[in-house]
Amino acid sequence: MPARATTIARMAPSPSPLTAADILRVDLGTVFSPAGEPDSGVAYPVHGFAVTHPEGLVLVDTGVGEPGTTFVRDWRPVARRIDTQLAAMGLAAADVRLVVNTHLHWDHCGQNAVFTQAPFVVQRREYETAREREGIIWEWFQVAGARFELVDGARELLPGIRVLPAFGHTVGHQVVVVETDRGPVVLGGDAADSVDGFEQEALALATVPEDAEAWRAALRELKALEPAAVLLCHDPAPWHPRAARGPAPARP
Ligand SMILES: [Zn+2]
Repeated sequence: MPARATTIARMAPSPSPLTAADILRVDLGTVFSPAGEPDSGVAYPVHGFAVTHPEGLVLVDTGVGEPGTTFVRDWRPVARRIDTQLAAMGLAAADVRLVVNTHLHWDHCGQNAVFTQAPFVVQRREYETAREREGIIWEWFQVAGARFELVDGARELLPGIRVLPAFGHTVGHQVVVVETDRGPVVLGGDAADSVDGFEQEALALATVPEDAEAWRAALRELKALEPAAVLLCHDPAPWHPRAARGPAPARP
């Protein structure tokens, strides 16, 4: 049985060699909510994250995938090539040692094929659901050398870097927690659509929540980690705990 979110806070991390400066946000483009949606036409940025670990470069999510699919027709992405974006930051795609996909939606695993030298770390239940339901995305993974590292629940990947289950947006959504000199930093994928959504535990993403209760529980568990910051795929702003933001404004 996969570890539930309630195990998150009890998992003691190994000593970490990382600082907050080892986490880099990678701009992977913009998508526009399709016609017919309540937020039709609204632009959403797409980000991945690179973590420069002494044992190798770790990448979290790979952005928007190939043209010619219904996703791309509907969401009109302005996609950026991930290898080009990494190079602009002084990082080489060939140096990526691990790719973590928070989940297997088209805007999070679309450029996995660039990194066939690295295993793709995915929750097992996410992988199995994608194999059954996500025909086009599944085809993207059928590239020579593609390897999946399937995880059941929480797992340390390298000292200071672990994945934790945060189910809800999809059946096997996971987040990455990086232990830094400033405290844990959560690379949250689509655990929330925005920092406000994370704060308010609002499940506003445009996909049908697989399990709303699990989702809310996961958000509460992530807050219980007392993270220094939470960085999300579709919001360029970081979430910080209230203590770091200063006191709430006085009520009139
Ligand atoms: Zn997304």
